[in-house]
Amino acid sequence: MPHVITQSCCGDGSCVYACPVNCIHPSPDEPGFGTAEMLHIDPDACVDCGACVTACPVGAIVADTRLTAAQLPFVDINAAYYPPRPAGAKVPPTTKLAPVLPAPRPEHGGLKVAVVGSGPAGMYAADELLTQARVRVNVFDALPTPYGLVRAGVAPDHPRTKAITGLFDRMSRRDGFRFYLNVTVGQHISHDELLEHHHAVLYTVGAAHERRLDVEGMHLPGTGSATELVGWINGDPRSAGLPVDLNHPTAVVIGNGNVALDVARILTTDPEQLAATDISDAALAALRTSAVREVVVAARRGPAESAFTLPELIGLTTGSHVVLDDADRVLVRADLLAAQDPVTRAKLEVLAALPGADAGADAEPGRRRIRLAYRLTPTRVLGADRAEGVQFRRTGGEETVRLDAGLVLTSIGYRGRPVAGLPFDDAAGVVPNVGGRVVDPVTGRPVAGAYVAGWIKRGPTGFIGTNKSCAMQTVAALVGDFNDGRLVDPVRRAALLDKLIRARQPDLVDAAGWRAIDDAERSQGAGEGRPRVKFTTVADLVAAAQSRRSPRRGGGHRGGGHRGGGHMDRIASWISS
Ligand SMILES: Cc1cc2nc3c(=O)[nH]c(=O)nc-3n(C[C@H](O)[C@H](O)[C@H](O)COP(=O)(O)OP(=O)(O)OC[C@H]3O[C@@H](n4cnc5c(N)ncnc54)[C@H](O)[C@@H]3O)c2cc1C
Repeated sequence: MPHVITQSCCGDGSCVYACPVNCIHPSPDEPGFGTAEMLHIDPDACVDCGACVTACPVGAIVADTRLTAAQLPFVDINAAYYPPRPAGAKVPPTTKLAPVLPAPRPEHGGLKVAVVGSGPAGMYAADELLTQARVRVNVFDALPTPYGLVRAGVAPDHPRTKAITGLFDRMSRRDGFRFYLNVTVGQHISHDELLEHHHAVLYTVGAAHERRLDVEGMHLPGTGSATELVGWINGDPRSAGLPVDLNHPTAVVIGNGNVALDVARILTTDPEQLAATDISDAALAALRTSAVREVVVAARRGPAESAFTLPELIGLTTGSHVVLDDADRVLVRADLLAAQDPVTRAKLEVLAALPGADAGADAEPGRRRIRLAYRLTPTRVLGADRAEGVQFRRTGGEETVRLDAGLVLTSIGYRGRPVAGLPFDDAAGVVPNVGGRVVDPVTGRPVAGAYVAGWIKRGPTGFIGTNKSCAMQTVAALVGDFNDGRLVDPVRRAALLDKLIRARQPDLVDAAGWRAIDDAERSQGAGEGRPRVKFTTVADLVAAAQSRRSPRRGGGHRGGGHRGGGHMDRIASWISS
């Protein structure tokens, strides 16, 4: 089998379009593309041309002769997607070559679009719009740095995934693309003002706000969300001052999706390995003195309903010390007997092969480990002045289970927040839309000039690359409306937009400013054998953008500058010892 798709698959489908023999599935036109945990190369059909390797923006495709030991399980995962068949038969036999979706073509020139949010959805949307001549796209972001959760969410020890920023950097250099970073839409400029300067406003503001766990004690110091912790690890200025306490030997993460696994892995990885990544200096320093020895990842339901994906589970179990206690091993075996779905079966087989919680404890005393625990419904966080543990009820029973812990993190899902000037579906946590056109939920009619893509459009599901087809659908709707004359021409000249924003936000960061930040971070990293050393406050980022002279790392500006109150409010529930 010549080529294999591995853990960092982002699902954007670039490889599908590059493949000359259509051996990568599911393709964006096939059922299951939106929910697939990764894409797969048909081992019998692959002709070893390497076109997919070049096309993949995250380096996930590897020739079988170059796989590392940790990547070997992906040989079977790729092959298992395709059913057994007679030698030489291609599968699925009825599948045609993946269609190259025609880029939407504005029928007259001069389309101007504001994209709000520079995460994956915003960047894919801008790129798709700019495949046509005489289109202008202004991309706004509240942070001085672009790329949303790729910078602030993806774990620092997943550098291949973060490498997609190279693709986004190339997109941002297209003619007609302009960055307005450190500009919050709704604060520095309103929706109506944006519409005066553009034909349409496309919101790609994401939905990475943690759902709250509503149990007693979740306000206590020592509690928080996995996303905030990931932000702190990643040097997100909104979480830079998070006083994380790692002085207790046990941490509990409630929920077992991929983000829960990311947090558990980072908390238990040897800090000297992390020192070679772009992890924030503050997090690295805290992890070097951390007392945490065990992270319990506690799920409400059973092993078969585990929320993490198979690629992430394999990555975790090949790189970290992961254990199950005896009761959970029994649950895994029972679920394995009943499992029908092949992906679920494969996950359960990986879980069934994990060592028991007591195995090897004597041989490796004190080795940091992750314990996956099941059927635990949290009922309260224990402690008077700060978190001391979590009380659970055995799901489906009455038994009470208590875990001591000094750090209690929730990772139970995300939702979007209302966008100023647009309707909001509070139950789903998204902006109501039909195929990306924002609609009034009462009348069902489109809100003129307003569009959405990414997590704020479809909810917090899928991978980085899933946002590509999502953004393409919205762009097709937007350009269709432009061609049909349903969008109003901007009433103000382009130069006035710049003037207006600079007057309201003197610390605006443009493309040159972002490149100055990027260069400064990379050159600081180069001296330490790291991809970059991040600035973690808005003030330091703005200073780096405005001057090639690097500001003092971590100096003088801690927590300064940013006025996004939401995160800071939540930080109040954390504590240092
Ligand atoms: C912690 C975490 C880790 C993840 N890790 C992975 C991974 O390893 N691999 C993977 O494939 N997927 C991963 N994902 C999923 C992936 O990050 C998402 O699919 C993707 O980021 C969603 O893209 P988006 O553009 O909709 O939103 P985001 O990436 O959230 O981007 C939204 C952007 O909008 C900006 N914004 C918000 N409001 C405003 C405003 N009012 N004005 C201006 N700008 C605004 C924000 O600053 C942000 O930059 C992870 C998700 C999380 C939460």
